Amino acid sequence: MNIILLGPPGAGKGTQSAGLVERHGMKQLSTGDMLRAAVKAQTPVGLEAKAVMDRGELVSDEIVSSLIDENLAAMEAGQGAIFDGYPRTAAQAADLDRILEKNGRSLDRVIELEVDVDALVERITGRFSCANCGALYHDTANPPSKEGVCDNCGSTEFKRRPDDNEETVRTRMAEYRAKTAPILPGYEERGIVSRVNGMDGIDEVAGAIDAILAK
Ligand code: ADP
Ligand code: AMP
Repeated sequence: MNIILLGPPGAGKGTQSAGLVERHGMKQLSTGDMLRAAVKAQTPVGLEAKAVMDRGELVSDEIVSSLIDENLAAMEAGQGAIFDGYPRTAAQAADLDRILEKNGRSLDRVIELEVDVDALVERITGRFSCANCGALYHDTANPPSKEGVCDNCGSTEFKRRPDDNEETVRTRMAEYRAKTAPILPGYEERGIVSRVNGMDGIDEVAGAIDAILAK
């Protein structure tokens, strides 16, 4: 299975990807995570991407598509891939088709997480993650069960993304509307789009995604 999780920033793509990895042994390919790792390691790609990411704009198609290309090529043939935060433009969608074909894969499903735009700023400004294992949390909607301790690894260190502030979120939403939402109709024509209500609780959304994948 090769699937895209599509939805605006804060829709729950990372949260649901983590669940799919755990439940089905799939691999999450998040261009945002790859770029943040490159920024942290101060690679040439990271140095180029940092300012763009801090503004909430999109990094070049060439950079993100080559990250996906490298990561997909390194996967075992039998393992399913979840594309999280990629593709985000029409050019990336075309790149993905080529990259999948080159690797003997094809796209099975595009799952759109439908969310209320008004809820997204709150979701994003409340987002934090474990500094050790990356587990995702939210101040009110999904806090660790023991305050200050990661449920997954027990670490007591957490971090917040520098781009998770209200001003940058608005730019990221505008980028989504202008460049990412328009790629959906192409997938609809191929008959591979399914929608889930991303405003439901995390477990309900996960159940809806599993039901789609089981069809
Ligand atoms: P994305 O990867 O689409 O940007 P995330 O998965 O990082 O979104 O989720 C954004 C924030 O919203 C996180 O803090 C996460 O814990 C929280 N969240 C995710 N899914 C839900 C949900 N169904 N209901 C409430 N909060 C959620
Ligand atoms: P995300 O973690 O998906 O919210 O992405 C964080 C930031 O990384 C975005 O605001 C962009 O600046 C950049 N980014 C991530 N994925 C892509 C992509 N597919 N195309 C362009 N920029 C991306």
